[in-house]
Amino acid sequence: MAKHWAEPAVTALRANGQRVADLDTSSTPGFTGGKREGKELLAERATVLSDLQEKLFAHGRTGGTRSVLLVLQGMDTAGKGGIVRHVIGSVDPQGVDHASFGVPTPEELQHDFLWRIRKRLPAHGQIGVFDRSHYEDVLVVRVHELVPQREWEPRYDLINEFEREVSENGTMIIKVAMFVSLEEQKRRLRERLERPDKYWKFNPSDISERAYWPEYQKAYETLLDRTNTDYAPWYVLPADNKWYSRLAVTELLIDALTGLNLDWPPADFDVAEQLRRLDES
Ligand code: ADP
Repeated sequence: MAKHWAEPAVTALRANGQRVADLDTSSTPGFTGGKREGKELLAERATVLSDLQEKLFAHGRTGGTRSVLLVLQGMDTAGKGGIVRHVIGSVDPQGVDHASFGVPTPEELQHDFLWRIRKRLPAHGQIGVFDRSHYEDVLVVRVHELVPQREWEPRYDLINEFEREVSENGTMIIKVAMFVSLEEQKRRLRERLERPDKYWKFNPSDISERAYWPEYQKAYETLLDRTNTDYAPWYVLPADNKWYSRLAVTELLIDALTGLNLDWPPADFDVAEQLRRLDES
């Protein structure tokens, strides 16, 4: 087990029917160290992640069909962007396919809700990152009744079917739901309003959404109950401590990539012969 972990992130964070409203968002499940240890360890583990990602990329380049999909969900300020910058940012960008999903365009709205998602699934050998995802269609859509219940209700089953198909096609899916407390969100929003370098991240609707916190918690609880499958597991991430979220997601990715059991592709040329040619050149 990695240093300072009493229990691996994959088991400590796996959704297990817990109530979202009861989650201690400042906790650091499984981790025995503090911020300093967490930051030091992140630097070490980023190297491990990067090596594993290179193996996945090499696998894709040589005809392999596996890929990884990291789905990030969370309320505004939960730290999805930080995961992308600090975790995904530590691997080779050519092996990463980042997709963010905002309010659907008129064209997207003409299709079923999975249409735009399918188009962004990672290619062989890639780590795909969904910054928001098809789960918005049972979160914001449900909370604000953007479509009637008879339309969003079947989506949980449709999502499970979709994810099963994606997983059977060789994509390892990891879903992370990030939670900050209402107070921590207020602090982070205040920072966006007090720092000119953060204004660009601020959206006045983020404040209006705070009034819907209980409805969002309920919607999260339902999706965690109904879409937490063996082939596409949910991890519930307390996200008040950014250093912890980043470290934990790094561990989840390391675990997933290790689970793919990839080897470096063998040479498709005669190594000795090429060395001899090189010497003679
Ligand atoms: P962020 O807030 O993550 O920086 P954007 O401002 O681009 O990103 O857009 C995110 C917004 O889009 C969120 O408010 C989110 O709820 C909304 N959104 C995402 N998917 C959908 C959807 N399917 N239907 C309606 N709104 C959506």
